[in-house]
Amino acid sequence: MKILLISPKRDYHLFTNRGILIPQLSLLIIKGLTPAKHEVKIVEEEHMQLNLDEQCDIVGISCMTSNAYRGYRIADAFRERNKIVVMGGVHPSILPEEALQHADAVVVGEAEGVWETILEDIESNNLQRIYNEPDPDLNRHILKDFSILPKKRFYNLVPLQTKRGCPYNCDFCCVSKLFGKKIKEIPINNVVKDIRLSGSRNFIFLDDNIIADRAHAKNLFKTLIPLKIKWVGQSSIAIAQEDEILKLAKKSGCRALFIGLESVMDTSIKKYKKLSSPEEIRNNIRKILKMGIIIHASIIFGFDEDTQKTFDETLNFLIRNRISIAAINVLTPYPGTQVYKKFRKQGKLLHENWGYYDHHTVVFQPKNMTPLELQIGKINVRNNFSSIPSIIMRFIGNLRMPVLYLITNLKYRKYVLKDRLILQQFKSGIQQNSMDVKNLDILFAANNNTTRLE
Ligand code: SF4
Repeated sequence: MKILLISPKRDYHLFTNRGILIPQLSLLIIKGLTPAKHEVKIVEEEHMQLNLDEQCDIVGISCMTSNAYRGYRIADAFRERNKIVVMGGVHPSILPEEALQHADAVVVGEAEGVWETILEDIESNNLQRIYNEPDPDLNRHILKDFSILPKKRFYNLVPLQTKRGCPYNCDFCCVSKLFGKKIKEIPINNVVKDIRLSGSRNFIFLDDNIIADRAHAKNLFKTLIPLKIKWVGQSSIAIAQEDEILKLAKKSGCRALFIGLESVMDTSIKKYKKLSSPEEIRNNIRKILKMGIIIHASIIFGFDEDTQKTFDETLNFLIRNRISIAAINVLTPYPGTQVYKKFRKQGKLLHENWGYYDHHTVVFQPKNMTPLELQIGKINVRNNFSSIPSIIMRFIGNLRMPVLYLITNLKYRKYVLKDRLILQQFKSGIQQNSMDVKNLDILFAANNNTTRLE
C-alpha cells in the first residue's frame, strides 16, 4: 500500500513564529514502524507542498490543537477522494470523537504497538475506529529516515527522544494525561544508534524534561561525551541543583536548555516549579549560565495570580537575571488539561476555535484583567525583552556563549518586530486584511468573542 504521512501547517494567516519549527519525530517513528512492503511518503506541510491528489491508499495525519482544523480539512479532502484517513497526535488523542468526524480511525496516544495492527486491519478490511496501546514497548529500536529532514529550516537539528511521560501533571499541560505520570525510558543504546545513523552532529532532545530521571540522565550524558555532539533540550531548572549532572550535561555537548519557568511571581513559583523560593531560581539560573549553557526560558502570562504588575516584574526579572532568550506566551487552556476543564466550567473560555489555541492568543477571560490587557501585556513584554538595550544588558551574563546568544536574540528580535507592528496598527486604529489578522482580531475584539477563523 502507498501511505502518505502528513504534519499539517497552521493556517498561514495565523502563523507568527515561522522561525522556530520543531521537526516532527512522530512521523519518522511511524515510517520506521511501517513494514517494508509498504511505501511511505512524509509531508511536513510547513515547508513542503501537499498535493491533495497524491496517489496513495492511506493518509496518516498527526496534529496538535492549533493545527487540528487544518488537519481536519486535509482529512475531509482525502476522504472525498476515497482515501482511508487515520489521525493521531496530541489533539486527536485528547478528543478522539471530534477527530472521528473527519477520520476513519484515530490513534489515541502513542503509535508504537498499534500502527502495524492498523495496517493489517486495513488490509483485511477490518479497520477499527479507535486504537490505543497504553503501555507500548519502547525497547525496540525503530529505524528513522532522518535524511528527509530539511536541514536549513531546522538549523540542522535532528530530533531525538530518550523518555516520555511526566510525574508532575501541571494543570496547564496534558503531557501526563497523554503519556502517563510514569516515566517511560527509551534505551540509551537506541538513542546512540539514532545519533550514529543520522550522520548529524547537532541534535534536539524532545523529552519534556531531560533530567526527569537523574540516573538515566547521568548515564545518557556520560554515553554522549565520546560522541562529541552538540545538543539542545528541555529541562527542569533543578538541573542546576546537582553540580555533577550540570557538568555532565555541558561535557556531553549541551548548548542550550529550554526551561519552563512559567511564572517568576512568588505566588506561582511554589505551585509550578517545585522550588522553594525566587532566590533558588536565581541561583540556578546563574549556575547554568556560568556553565556556558544558553537558557531559553518559557514564561506564561494569565495565571489567576497575575495582575498588571506581573508584566513589568517579569520583564525586570528576565533582564536582571540575564536570561539568554525567552518564549513569552499566554496561558492556553488546551483541551485535556485541568485548566481547560476549570475554565469551561466557569464559563471563562472566549471560544473553542482551536486554531487560536496556540499559546500566543488569549482565548479565555483572565481573573485580574481583560483578555485585551493580557494580550497587549504579553506583546509589550516580548517587545521590551527583545529591545537592543535589553539584549546588551543580558549579554553580560551570556559571555560564555556569545555567538549563539547573539544569533538567537537577533533572530528572535526579527519575529518580535512583527508583534510591534501589530501593536502600532492597533494603536493607530488601522485594521488590515493581512496574515497578522489573528493578533489584530484579538486586539480589536478580545472582549466580544469575535474571531475570523472560518
Ligand atoms: S509542564 Fe512540564 S513539568 Fe508540568 S506536566 Fe507538563 S511536562 Fe511535566
